[in-house]
Amino acid sequence: MAGFLSKLKSGNATMRGPMVKDQFPFRDEDDPRVLYVLSERARRISLKVKNSEREVHVVVPGVRALSKAKQFAREQRDWIDVQLESLPPPMPFRPGEYILFQGQEYQLISPPGKGRPKISRSRQKIIVPSPDAESFPGRVRRLLIREAREELTAASHYYAEKLDKRVGKVSVRDQSSRWGSCITRNGEGHISYSWRLICAPPEILEYVAAHECAHLVHDDHSKAFWDVCHSIYDDVKNATKWLNKNGAKLHAIGAEF
Ligand SMILES: [Zn+2]
Repeated sequence: MAGFLSKLKSGNATMRGPMVKDQFPFRDEDDPRVLYVLSERARRISLKVKNSEREVHVVVPGVRALSKAKQFAREQRDWIDVQLESLPPPMPFRPGEYILFQGQEYQLISPPGKGRPKISRSRQKIIVPSPDAESFPGRVRRLLIREAREELTAASHYYAEKLDKRVGKVSVRDQSSRWGSCITRNGEGHISYSWRLICAPPEILEYVAAHECAHLVHDDHSKAFWDVCHSIYDDVKNATKWLNKNGAKLHAIGAEF
């Protein structure tokens, strides 16, 4: 209906535009792992591997480029296969399965009955009572987000204090492209993080918090920024190396297939 109305308003010249635009994003008919995403800002057709969704996005720079983009995706089929098949094995949120938590393997347990979910560090188990199988993954995820928020909030305040800066809001969500981001508003830093950092070893989570807090001083990745970063966190090099090497593994956590 929206397409029809805008068609009336904008006249014949752009008749097909708004209608087709509304259909994005959509999946390839032959290959459900391929999703076409419209980007008005993009200047050319490109492919992006989405680790946590375990799919490939075809970035389409404008509706008119769609048939070309489809052809491009077909031509790149082998590359797409290699990329997706080389992803680390999925670690689904299913009772009995193992996932990474603070860098260690923890088993997911679903005891019958009600009760609060909890994490047993001595037994390396994540215990999540669940009334039914469908709600189990969501409960595990919310528990991890809660743990992540707690650790990341504490770490953010710790490093900000070292730099004599203030952190306002700390949010934790599933941002697929970055481990953290930081914006300064009215002299206060607002930092958001990926919940997946709680699955990495604690020193890696600490590093990302230190990195984002260093952005409270410098809003770029200049030499001055890295100097600040090194002044509050010892082993920047090893931490970045770990993230580069294991990032895809963190994105496999909670993946279903
Ligand atoms: Zn940064």
